[in-house]
Amino acid sequence: MSTVHTRRHCIVPPYLLRALLDSDDGSVRRTALNSLLTSASIRGRRTALAGSLGMAADGRRTIFDVENGSALARAAVVRTEDGPPAADDSANKAFDGLGDTRQFYAEVFGRNSIDDRGLRLNGYIHRGVRFNNAFWDGLEMVFGDGDGVLFTDFTGSIDVIAHELTHGVTEHTAALEYHHQPGALNESISDAFGEMVKQWTLNQTADEADWLVGTEIFTPGVDADALRSMRAPGTAYDNAQFGQDPQPDHMDRYADLPDTDEGDYGGVHINSGIPNKAFYLVATAIGGNSWNAPGHIWYEALKASTATTDFSAFAATTYAQAVRLYGQTEQQAVRDAWEQVGVEGAG
Ligand SMILES: [Zn+2]
Repeated sequence: MSTVHTRRHCIVPPYLLRALLDSDDGSVRRTALNSLLTSASIRGRRTALAGSLGMAADGRRTIFDVENGSALARAAVVRTEDGPPAADDSANKAFDGLGDTRQFYAEVFGRNSIDDRGLRLNGYIHRGVRFNNAFWDGLEMVFGDGDGVLFTDFTGSIDVIAHELTHGVTEHTAALEYHHQPGALNESISDAFGEMVKQWTLNQTADEADWLVGTEIFTPGVDADALRSMRAPGTAYDNAQFGQDPQPDHMDRYADLPDTDEGDYGGVHINSGIPNKAFYLVATAIGGNSWNAPGHIWYEALKASTATTDFSAFAATTYAQAVRLYGQTEQQAVRDAWEQVGVEGAG
């Protein structure tokens, strides 16, 4: 049986946890170090068998409790499609978040789970002790509890769950490489669809939405709006613990970083601010619900992209899809948005 190593996609970028290593608070430093080391030691796993195991399951959900350990194989089942709600609220929140994301993709895009072949959705809660992260490893969704000082239980954030599962959708469509511009596009797709799922569950229009990614993951004690802002990249936080949100909102401020863990693989969580802002601009210019015309243009462009698609190529594809699916008004909105963030290629 061959094993393909896929990248683990964590919601909290390594540079945020690294910033905490400088904290004056010893327990914050220790928890951050532990979360960093744990994140680095987990390897994404996808076996050749996985595809067949997940087939024709219509995205059936199973929630497992890791009970603060790390051995997923020994985790106990705490919630299934057939059983009653669990006594543990985290189990029910994870179950609902996976369900909302699955339902969004089915109803809006006619997609049967992440791989469009009914992949089972397995969620593992209470992973590790005060683990400050949540991730999709190519096969399953894993949630930490957070340290309770800076981060809360990650099951409570629908856009985090939808962000993570969308990494799976990307993996099964364009399979965008996870570095430099294709990687930043990969991150941006997860943010954009994550926000769409959140807005869909709240039945919000593009104008009503906050466009903030991960508003719920910080404790009230942390002076931060969210992990990222799609409306105003670079403004999600600016505090002593994490420093300032490093996201640019224009190609003039594109961050040239090395393709290393330290460099966020060429700034995948940083430069994603640029296509994030473009999607926000398209959604608000067209108006109404983001998952209608804007979402369909982005979804079809994702399916028409490849592993090495960069910002310009993606801009060109969205421009082409806008007129193919809709008309001049939508195409103009797409052209204006990419122009405002300094990306050439649309029109
Ligand atoms: Zn991500």
